[in-house]
This record gives sequence, structure tokens and C-alpha cells, in this order.
Amino acid sequence: MSLISSIQAILAGNCPFKKAKSVRVENVAIIGAGLSGLTLALALHQQSIPCTIYEARSAPLNIGGAIMLSPNALRILDLLGVYERIRYEGYDFDKLYFRSPADQPFDEYEFGGEEKYAYRGMRIYRHVLIRELSAMVTEANIPIHYDKKFVRVVSETETDVTWEFDDGHHHHRHLSRRRGRHPFQGPQVPVP
Ligand SMILES: Cc1cc2nc3c(=O)[nH]c(=O)nc-3n(C[C@H](O)[C@H](O)[C@H](O)COP(=O)(O)OP(=O)(O)OC[C@H]3O[C@@H](n4cnc5c(N)ncnc54)[C@H](O)[C@@H]3O)c2cc1C
Repeated sequence: MSLISSIQAILAGNCPFKKAKSVRVENVAIIGAGLSGLTLALALHQQSIPCTIYEARSAPLNIGGAIMLSPNALRILDLLGVYERIRYEGYDFDKLYFRSPADQPFDEYEFGGEEKYAYRGMRIYRHVLIRELSAMVTEANIPIHYDKKFVRVVSETETDVTWEFDDGHHHHRHLSRRRGRHPFQGPQVPVP
């Protein structure tokens, strides 16, 4: 399942981690505080699923050129409350125009449009998006640990997973099975 499908499923209250009914998701470990990790964290938080982010860098990424956000991406960011925080810092557009090396019109591509897709395309600096996503993650009290570079999964069974960071620390999650009348007990799921 792609990340965008996973986030759509989570926002629809159909979290893939909850599909295994015999276990309960207590905390999800997310490796990487990039666009995906930060967005996933907000989506899990919206569904009251706790998570922790581990990022190899020492601080949020504050560089990078502009990226184009499609209506699909904007729909998700809107559901998470991010869109309203970034919309006036981006440039809205509907079409991409391609030109030949001789600078002649060559082709065009429909990227967005309010009537057809509910959102126009948006071009925005990556660091602006990272800044707002990181701020919202902090406001939601989702822990982000910087200087934590994931190295490898040390061991993994159906009920346990242990992984290692480059500082030598090992992290361990136990996946408890359902018992008695308790609806769920269980896992913390690392998401590489
Ligand atoms: C030049 C360029 C232009 C692009 N333009 C667009 C565009 O216009 N529109 C668009 O939608 N997409 C665009 N993309 C794609 C977009 O950047 C990616 O889809 C998006 O960044 C993926 O998000 P991510 O969080 O998976 O990865 P990233 O944004 O790369 O984030 C990964 C994070 O994980 C951290 N990390 C990596 N390894 C580890 C580790 N071992 N342990 C802990 N942390 C780790 C990194 O430091 C980083 O912070 C572009 C990509 C490039 C390269």
C-alpha cells in the first residue's frame, strides 16, 4: 500500500495497523521526519494513535527548492489542518506548460483545478512545508527525536521487534496478543 493510500485509509478511520484485530496499536515508531513521516504522524494523531518520530538529522530540514503539491496531496493536508497554514505561502496554478529548447510551446499538463479536482495545484518551498508540519507535530505533543539514525532491525518475530540506531541504542517493541475481554493489547509498530 502506498503512503498516500495509507494516510487516506488512516484518515478514513481504517488504519492498516488496526487491521490485526488481535493486537492493539499503542505507539508507532516512524523513521524519518520528512514530508511522509511528519504527515503520517499527524494522521495517526488525528486518529488518537500515539507515535514517535526518529530523525537522523539534528534539526528539521530547512533547505530545498519548491515542490508542487497535487490536489490529492492538498486534500490530505486539508484534512489535517495543514493546508490553511500554508496556502498563502504557496503559488496556485492549474496547468504545467512545457516549452521546447527553442522556447516554443511544446505541451501542457493539467495539474489541478478547483472545479474538477476541488484544489488548484500548489508550488511551495519544501522548507515551508516541513516548518509547518514540524510545528504542528510539536503542537500535538508528538515526540520527535533528532540525531537518531536508524541502522537496522536487529531481530523480528511475530510478537517482538528490536532495532538499532547509529548511537548504538537498541529499541524494542513487544506486540501483545488479545486476552480475555480486553479489546486489544499490544504493539508498537516501527514504520521504516
Ligand atoms: C529534486 C526533487 C524534486 C521533487 N519535486 C517534487 C514535487 O514537486 N512534488 C512532489 O510531490 N514531490 C516531489 N519530490 C518528491 C518528494 O521530495 C518525495 O516524495 C518526498 O520528499 C518523500 O518524502 P519522505 O518523507 O519519504 O522522504 P524525505 O522527504 O526524503 O524524508 C526522509 C527523512 O528521513 C530521514 N532519514 C533518512 N534515513 C534515515 C535513517 N536511517 N534514520 C532516521 N532518519 C532517516 C531523512 O533525514 C529525512 O528527513 C521531489 C524530489 C526531488 C529529489
